[in-house]
Amino acid sequence: MTELDNKIWAHCDDYQHNWIVAYLPLEMKKTVALMRSAVCPKCASPIIMMGKTP
Ligand SMILES: [Zn+2]
Repeated sequence: MTELDNKIWAHCDDYQHNWIVAYLPLEMKKTVALMRSAVCPKCASPIIMMGKTP
């Protein structure tokens, strides 16, 4: 597993912001919590998509 493989990226659909929300696998519980209540840290948009790439 490379360093890039264990990052969970979030993508803000409103303003195209990208940020890292968590690192796998140690923060899986945190990731689940974030995916349930995530908002963009830059614009507070609730429309968030998450995945392995920005
Ligand atoms: Zn945003």
